[in-house]
Amino acid sequence: TTNAKAILELEEVTVSFDGFKALDGLNFRMAYGELRFVIGPNGAGKTTLLDVLTGKTRPQRGTVLFDGRVNVTRTPEHELVRQGIARKFQTPTIFPSLTVYENLEAAAGFREGVVGLMGRLDPERQERIEEVLELVALRPRAAVRAGVLAHGEKQWLEMAMLLVQEPKLLLLDEPVAGMTRAERNRTGELLQAIASRCSVLVVEHDMEFVRNFASRVTVLHLGRLLTEGPVAQVQADPRVIEVYIGR
Ligand code: ADP
Repeated sequence: TTNAKAILELEEVTVSFDGFKALDGLNFRMAYGELRFVIGPNGAGKTTLLDVLTGKTRPQRGTVLFDGRVNVTRTPEHELVRQGIARKFQTPTIFPSLTVYENLEAAAGFREGVVGLMGRLDPERQERIEEVLELVALRPRAAVRAGVLAHGEKQWLEMAMLLVQEPKLLLLDEPVAGMTRAERNRTGELLQAIASRCSVLVVEHDMEFVRNFASRVTVLHLGRLLTEGPVAQVQADPRVIEVYIGR
């Protein structure tokens, strides 16, 4: 995959907070269509990485190139969203009194800047919503009020609300936190399905989940890339074992 075109390419990215380097010359690359897991002990720089990718935090040094052309560190946050970088936070931002379908209509409208009847009658938008409902397997729940969904279903709806906006890169921060085992497994399958249409970067603490669903894993430690590779290889790496156990 090292020759494949990159959706994301970071070179020597450094982020300092009062002289403390949360990212310390980070090099990171991700190909199109990848489902990439980023792990690492607390303080490794995972959240800072997500903040850099969304334009929330500006590095003091280094370059971040998205989709082969967008200079992330010089682009406003809202423009990065428009260019196709979507981030899901842990707390859902769904509209509880609207149905699942109406939530997706609203989300599709955000992107287009069109709300109300005009957008609702747009067949292209309806098709997009139907596709995403299918992808996240929420079609049987389409007419249900979002507020009564189970925790896992709310998380999937939130992902679906980002997907109808057709991002090129989806950033997820601990997507299985608080989920039951069944919900975690469904989420893993879901992420693999999503990766067929957009690249997905997942920051995750749940190692069992990573083992079950990750192919390629990146390990951050002290703001740097410690190692990277197939999950079995990374897990057996003595350096990885040391940073997780030797704390
Ligand atoms: P992770 O998500 O891997 O746990 P973070 O990216 O949140 O790591 O944090 C990396 C390091 O940077 C931590 O030591 C944290 O305390 C520090 N840090 C993160 N954000 C800030 C900030 N806004 N101000 C000061 N220090 C910060």
